[in-house]
Amino acid sequence: MTKRILVLPGDGIGLEIVAEAVKVIEALKQDGLDVEMEEGLIGGASTDAHGEPLTDETLERARAADAVLLGAVGGPKWESLPIAIRPEKGLLKIRAGLELFSNLRPAILYPQLADASTLKPEVVSGLDLMIVRELTGGIYFGQPRGVETMENGERRGFNTLVYTESEVERIARSAFDIAMKRGKKLCSVDKANVLEVTEMWREVVERVAKDYPEVELSHMYVDNAAMQLVRAPKQFDVMVTTNMFGDILSDAAAMLTGSIGMLPSASLDAGGKGMYEPIHGSAPDIAGQGLANPLATILSVAMMLRYSLNEPAMADRVEKAVEQVLDQGLRTADIYSEGCKKVGTAEMGDAVVAAL
Ligand code: NAD
Repeated sequence: MTKRILVLPGDGIGLEIVAEAVKVIEALKQDGLDVEMEEGLIGGASTDAHGEPLTDETLERARAADAVLLGAVGGPKWESLPIAIRPEKGLLKIRAGLELFSNLRPAILYPQLADASTLKPEVVSGLDLMIVRELTGGIYFGQPRGVETMENGERRGFNTLVYTESEVERIARSAFDIAMKRGKKLCSVDKANVLEVTEMWREVVERVAKDYPEVELSHMYVDNAAMQLVRAPKQFDVMVTTNMFGDILSDAAAMLTGSIGMLPSASLDAGGKGMYEPIHGSAPDIAGQGLANPLATILSVAMMLRYSLNEPAMADRVEKAVEQVLDQGLRTADIYSEGCKKVGTAEMGDAVVAAL
């Protein structure tokens, strides 16, 4: 059956990079990929047109689609608006509205770009790890929360780290499923020595592991995981962790690679529907100049093929095509180094299509 993709370019470089990703999807359609694409507005573009960063109608179209491809939102034009209609609110609304609880953040360092990392090339070259972050629970959402004034007049601030067993179970299953599609190694990150809720997390992950006998499971305390990520990141295949730990570790892992324009991401619901987007923002400093690196968005398409459209062979092809253009020495300005050929956004997209 024909799968439907809702394309939401957003703002700033979102428009330019998504156009290149769409070229890649069009090329795959000619090779038999059975998808239909439709476009919608999100972020500042939607606020300009409809007075809000994501309309209920667009959210309904996202619910009806099999996958959403998003560029980026935001920019100086909308920064002084009330918080409720700022572009970023559109992102929160679509993530919550689609119940995207599993956030996949790969950190891949192509050997061709090993010099871009601040770590020694031998530590990071060839790095390929995936952090699975729980996205809709934990301390960012737990109740009670707030700041209160105590009897002695001093203020007291508090947030609550809370997970139900079913929330842990679904993120664990999501991570095991992903490990099965990769290197079959999963490291669950917690703070079970101090926090009871993550002691329970560990127990639930152990229980789910029985359904995945092929996956080698390990556990690590979050402080050690942070240390290991910068000491020897290649020891990891898939890591799974709570919302807050994942927030921090995934940004650290992303920066191991040194190139924000290269990193895709996915957020999945329980049924495999996903939203796919580069991890970077709308880059207003370079928007409209044809300078943006479209590879993070093109690699997001590869993730979409693998995790929502069930086309792993096509996902491999897209990833290989990206490697090929890097081998050819083509570089956008953000990943440029001496001796390479500097290209713009469209030229890079065309090169990937040609390599496909
Ligand atoms: P940013 O990621 O947009 O840019 C940071 C730096 O990286 C800039 O110098 C930019 O030019 C560069 N960069 C980013 N993507 C690039 C690419 N594909 N190719 C080449 N260079 C690239 O972060 P920021 O400057 O902090 O934020 C700009 C706007 O984006 C803000 O409005 C912010 O709220 C928004 N934002 C949106 C998202 C999202 O849509 N998911 C994420 C982060 C920030």
